[in-house]
Amino acid sequence: MDWNHEDTIVALATPPGVGAIGVIRLSGKSALNICNGIFPMKDLNIQLPNTLHVGQIFDNENVIDEVVVGLFRAPRSYTGEDVVEISCHGSPFVTEQIIQLCIRGGARLARPGEFTLRAFLNGKMDLAQAEAVADLIASNTRASHHTAMQQIRGGFSHELMELREELIRFSALIELELDFSQEDISFADRGSLRDIIRKVGIKIKELIGSFRLGNVIKNGVNAVISGLPNAGKSTLLNSLLNEDRAIVSEIPGTTRDTIEEVINIGGILFRLIDTAGLRDQSGDQLEELGMIKAREKIKSAELVIYVFDVTTFSPEEYRSQVEQFSHDDINFIMVGNKIDLAREETNREKYSGIHSLIFVSAKSVYNLSELKKEMINNIFKGDLQFEHTVISSTRHLTSLEEVFKILQELVEDIDKNISGDLLAVDIRRVLMHIGEITGEITNEEQLDFIFSKFCIGK
Ligand code: GDP
Repeated sequence: MDWNHEDTIVALATPPGVGAIGVIRLSGKSALNICNGIFPMKDLNIQLPNTLHVGQIFDNENVIDEVVVGLFRAPRSYTGEDVVEISCHGSPFVTEQIIQLCIRGGARLARPGEFTLRAFLNGKMDLAQAEAVADLIASNTRASHHTAMQQIRGGFSHELMELREELIRFSALIELELDFSQEDISFADRGSLRDIIRKVGIKIKELIGSFRLGNVIKNGVNAVISGLPNAGKSTLLNSLLNEDRAIVSEIPGTTRDTIEEVINIGGILFRLIDTAGLRDQSGDQLEELGMIKAREKIKSAELVIYVFDVTTFSPEEYRSQVEQFSHDDINFIMVGNKIDLAREETNREKYSGIHSLIFVSAKSVYNLSELKKEMINNIFKGDLQFEHTVISSTRHLTSLEEVFKILQELVEDIDKNISGDLLAVDIRRVLMHIGEITGEITNEEQLDFIFSKFCIGK
């Protein structure tokens, strides 16, 4: 896509539709003049930056609306350019009129993410921070909000920057060594290079390892509720929903081909998928199809909540189910339901094992808090650390994996006493991949891909 960064761009920054207020954002060299053309009360060119101005927007002699104009001057604005924000009444007719007036005055409609792209190009934020802006807008839980905010504030970029600086320092020494190659001098001590590479490698590995958590925080956990008919799956689903139904917007990148409900437990979204009863034998073809689909869902789920009726489920059935899950390498929690009809102690002995087992009464909402605690533990294996830097973007993961691979090669090369010029090539490759994440190294195509996922006006 051909982005012309000289243009002044305009877009509605608030959601389309009726609202109390609509905000129209203008950014670029002519932003102030374009606004002056429709807002005659004040000449914005002579106003102080970071100020608000009340007045009317005119289309020739017609008053379109009473508005408040916010004025920001380059470079101290979101985009790093001159920015005007017109807050008008939130009528789609009014906002459209004002946008059209701006276009007539010389602005063009902004593309999705173009304001943030300009912020990146003008050095207001790096690429990882810009991407986090999109994550922040899409965040719908405490945890996803926290991760996005941390990335916007530059936590992740800062860590990468430190690693990068260490490597750059070393690469400079090696380059120097190459300049003196005739003399066979080594400036760059191989032992400390190895230490640095190892240290960087450990950090990169940690970041790679955080992706699972980051992904769960950003996209939620796919959990399947499974069990025999009448075990109480629907009742359990409803009880959980009554307590923790999540308010969710569409989660990007997910498809919905089954009935699923979303709950928010401790800041994490669980997408609960209710499957048809899983029976071993069935003559019915349609039901068999349903079962195949259910099995597929179970295999691809991050967590299976297996509900059984403690009054009817035999210890043999229980054992065989547990064995099946273990054999298929499925992450599961066994939930003994209808405990209101039986004694918990007796059942604990009956269904013993080393896996997670929780007794609940879905109907009388007993012990669901234990189940929820277990769901969180099961996903995070005890270490839910929001404070650590976590990565949640596949783009970052790919680059970091590449970095890790080269670092391993580098250690081997140092051990093999490989010459400085070859080491320098590898260090440059590492720097390039780190630069891809923060945007020091980038190309149009990549930027198009990243920013096209933004909404218009951001
Ligand atoms: P599903 O086929 O697995 O979805 O099972 P349902 O949720 O439809 O429940 C089957 C029956 O068991 C219904 O009559 C429920 O009211 C009942 N039931 C579900 N949970 C409990 C419970 O915890 N205690 C008791 N006593 N009955 C329950």
